[in-house]
Amino acid sequence: MKLKRWQRTALWVIGTLFVVLLVAKHFLLDNPAAPGPDYVIDLAALHRAAAASPGALPDHIEVEKVADFGFPRTLVVAGDGFSMHKMVLLAHRVVWPDHTLMIDTAMSPAAGGSLPGAKFDPAAFQRVEKAMLQAKDIVFSHEHVDHVGGVSAAPDFGAIAKQTHLTREQLGSPKLERKDFPPGTLDRLQPLDYTGLYAVAPGVVLQKAPGHSPGSQLIYVELANGARYVFVGDIAWTKDNITLRRGRPGIATLLMSEDRPAVAAQLRALAALPKDVHIVVAHDPVALESDLKAGVYRRGFSGI
Ligand SMILES: [Zn+2]
Repeated sequence: MKLKRWQRTALWVIGTLFVVLLVAKHFLLDNPAAPGPDYVIDLAALHRAAAASPGALPDHIEVEKVADFGFPRTLVVAGDGFSMHKMVLLAHRVVWPDHTLMIDTAMSPAAGGSLPGAKFDPAAFQRVEKAMLQAKDIVFSHEHVDHVGGVSAAPDFGAIAKQTHLTREQLGSPKLERKDFPPGTLDRLQPLDYTGLYAVAPGVVLQKAPGHSPGSQLIYVELANGARYVFVGDIAWTKDNITLRRGRPGIATLLMSEDRPAVAAQLRALAALPKDVHIVVAHDPVALESDLKAGVYRRGFSGI
């Protein structure tokens, strides 16, 4: 059968489109990044740094769930299809008998429009705001608004400025939504400068982990009972990113301008940690519930 010229053209166009779509699907949705140079998590060095600062190690860790939301799974784990993937918005608090330290501050219900399908718990966010006032220190896994939003929404910034420790990388990052903060407030903060490992409190050590954002860092916590935790922020959006060693797809990376090889190397390092180290992912509801059930941390900020 001899095709007419327009039929040949139409076949060529459809064929080319098909190939382009297949290539785009591969690179934008299905293809996880190849890891870059090794990212090193030295647990012995983290333990030494945690134990070196004077003072008792913390007693336990608490968590507040401020909101539920969701993304299509294909944006969360490369190649995992279009089902809806549930996510949570959390703030954690490390507790000593006489003081507390917060890890991330979630974001206010008023600012929550950027989270698709978000259902907020306003009372939980109020507890986060009160906990910020009481905390001796507040540190951040990274500078995205769903982690620093509690600070930008604080009714009295002056009352929390002293304990708010944004790193120099977080303060200088283009990913920090400066417009969300009341004018001039960020200039009042003393940037936290460190290299290597930095013990911000007894039992709590920071280690830079740029990739998801320029200001991303690991937060290592060691309790008095010996339990060890690594808070990874959004290096992973679900523990599956770590156990499957498969990060976000190219499209998510492009939208957030991540350093994909750096994040992939961090996922590989996290996957290699001993099983007794609790890896805390910021947005994973399945891990949250199983960790709460196992007593890894406690539900709700106590005494507020
Ligand atoms: Zn986040």
